[in-house]
Amino acid sequence: MRSGSNKRLLLVEDNPGDARLLREMLSDEGAHNIDLTHVESMTQGEVHLSGKVFDLILLDLGLPDAQGLDAVRRAHIAAPRVPLVVLTGLDDESMASQALKEGAQDYLIKGQIETRGLLRALRYSVERKNMEEALFVERELAQITLNCIGDAVACTDSLGNVTFLNLAAEKMTGWPLREASGRPVEDIFSIFDATNRRVLPSPLEATVGKNRTGHLPPNCILVRRDGSEIPIEDSIAAIHDRDGVPCGAVTIFRDVSIARAMAVEKAHAAEHDFLTGLPNRMLLNDRISQAIELGKRHGKRVALLFLDLDGFKHTNDSLGHPVGDMLLKSVSKRILRCVRVSDTVSRQGGDEFVVLLSEVEKAEDAAITAGRILEAVAEAHSIGGDDLHVTTSIGLSVYPDDGEDAETLIKNADTAMYQAKDNGRQTYRFFKPDMNVRAVERQSIEESLRRALQGQEFALHYQPKVNLRTGEITGAEALIRWTHPIRGPLSPDRFIPIAEDCGLILPIGRWVLREACRQTKAWADAGLPVITIAVNISAIEFRDENFLDGVFNILKETGLDPKLLELELTESVLMKGADSTEMALKTLRKRGIQLAVDDFGTGYSSLSYLRKFSIDALKIDQSFMTQITATPEETTIVTAMISMGRSLKLRIVAEGVETQEQAAFLQAHQCDEAQGYYFSRPLPPERFATLLEARSFQLVEVPALPADPALKVIASRY
Ligand code: C2E
Ligand code: MG
Ligand code: MG
Repeated sequence: MRSGSNKRLLLVEDNPGDARLLREMLSDEGAHNIDLTHVESMTQGEVHLSGKVFDLILLDLGLPDAQGLDAVRRAHIAAPRVPLVVLTGLDDESMASQALKEGAQDYLIKGQIETRGLLRALRYSVERKNMEEALFVERELAQITLNCIGDAVACTDSLGNVTFLNLAAEKMTGWPLREASGRPVEDIFSIFDATNRRVLPSPLEATVGKNRTGHLPPNCILVRRDGSEIPIEDSIAAIHDRDGVPCGAVTIFRDVSIARAMAVEKAHAAEHDFLTGLPNRMLLNDRISQAIELGKRHGKRVALLFLDLDGFKHTNDSLGHPVGDMLLKSVSKRILRCVRVSDTVSRQGGDEFVVLLSEVEKAEDAAITAGRILEAVAEAHSIGGDDLHVTTSIGLSVYPDDGEDAETLIKNADTAMYQAKDNGRQTYRFFKPDMNVRAVERQSIEESLRRALQGQEFALHYQPKVNLRTGEITGAEALIRWTHPIRGPLSPDRFIPIAEDCGLILPIGRWVLREACRQTKAWADAGLPVITIAVNISAIEFRDENFLDGVFNILKETGLDPKLLELELTESVLMKGADSTEMALKTLRKRGIQLAVDDFGTGYSSLSYLRKFSIDALKIDQSFMTQITATPEETTIVTAMISMGRSLKLRIVAEGVETQEQAAFLQAHQCDEAQGYYFSRPLPPERFATLLEARSFQLVEVPALPADPALKVIASRY
């Protein structure tokens, strides 16, 4: 019992003999500090307990007004905190042990009580109760502390089942403790890795049995009960029992949404301009370096456009900085409109922007974008209800021509920008002067092209295709000719790519097709030998959604038999957009139109598409003809192509045949047809008609060579 002050003991005992005995024992020497109060019934006991504080109750279980457990319960209700020792008869020990379950600290069996035993039982009971109280207070303290802290705390037992969640953990997981308790921790604490969204195993298992604190991977996401997700950070520690055996684990985790969002924002801010949100100088440099690497690998160019607004300072000073800022934002949006998503628009600061165009084919392509930006920026900007006008000057530099690294390219684009300013502003200039000439020429060609159709500046020339067995003219290729009013005749190689870039190829191509069909029909109607007419179709035309309808309409309009029309497509057309290409080719062939692969051998080396698509003819590119006259070993490619074509049952046409030697070689290797200056240059229609009247060319007799069996093997692989 507590030392110091006297202990107050309430004895509830109706048997006078037992009461006397106990009183005697308690007045013994060892019990000198006990104040005893004796009552004979439960009711009296309750009265005392309600009026006075006791340190201990000694309760008989056989009272006149309360027996057994009823007495225990009533004593508890009357004084829940006061330790209770029950007195019971020898034959009633089971009752005594039930009393212990109800909260009694100890029991004594009447007739077996002796002073020392009694005193020890009383002392221990008080001590045990005190310890229980202390434990309760400690647990309360821990619970309150855990509920007060912001971090979530979850505890599990050794099987990984939840034993505790603090308030923060309940809130974060969405699971109240009463529902979570006893469930496997994975149900409550379901987590995945944000970087790859892979579900993570419970970290508790890895921790239980280890004597150290564990952590989750850095980008961990907790899936809450309602399915929502929060980024968390955590630490886990194992709990051990007295013998050091793991018996559970504690996980402490916290919501790091704000911290993570801030980190992302910080990283973004470090690489972006605060006003426009565009990449800043640092990020741009990175992107340029990447683009250069890619350009190197793919054999492409990279272009930089350095923009500086014209007279922006004046706008800023006269209208104020807030308006200036809005104008800069509006300009940045306009620039973004002019580039592909894979390009980078960055703000260097002030009114300077740098645009990075990656994977550029030709430097002139960058000039087209520059032209677009000049126009887009110059359109009125509606700011605060007013229309503001601003223009820009652009300097261009190109990798690898003007520099091999970001710094040099930016510097040279900047220099070029000053040249643009010197040239009267609202214009662009390349760093290399000869590029400007080319870009200007290109622009002027584009402008002239727009007028060429109306001005009837185009004409078609026809080049015969000759059957290499008979010498007969079997067909002709229609080739466009343009006589520029000032520049004179321009080769298709110079203007077709420009027409493709600016979309003019569509009306031009339609004109070519109509004119070629009309002419061929006219020749046939005039009684000239009937020939097929081959028309070149550019990839842009082929991919146009109205292409097929256009072809069918023209055939109907001109009355030409579809079997007499052959479309020449390049390998690149066949390689791209495979499914829709296949459909279109099938539709054309179903109508009887013939299809040829032009410039065969120059593009993709994959020949598998020849099998896949329905094709009638292969036109071996003219660059291979020079090999025929070179050393015999180098003719292998041409003979291989002929064999391959034959095994695929395709008609083989050799292009660019210039000499008798080449023609003889092709004849000997059983090439079907030939086309080239050796037979005839492309001719204007009236001269071609004269040629057609003669019907055929005289061929030199050449004995056919057997096809090389080794080459047949190669061919059959495709
Ligand atoms: P292509 O379709 O491969 O046409 C053959 C080119 O080779 C023509 O050049 C022709 O004049 C030229 N040629 C013919 N025989 C010989 C020869 O023996 N030796 C040499 N060195 N060259 C020969 P052209 O007319 O300058 O056309 C060039 C390219 O322009 C054509 O190549 C074709 O891809 C394109 N093209 C021409 N007309 C049109 C057209 O109406 N529409 C489209 N989309 N492209 C066209
Ligand atoms: Mg062609
Ligand atoms: Mg060709």
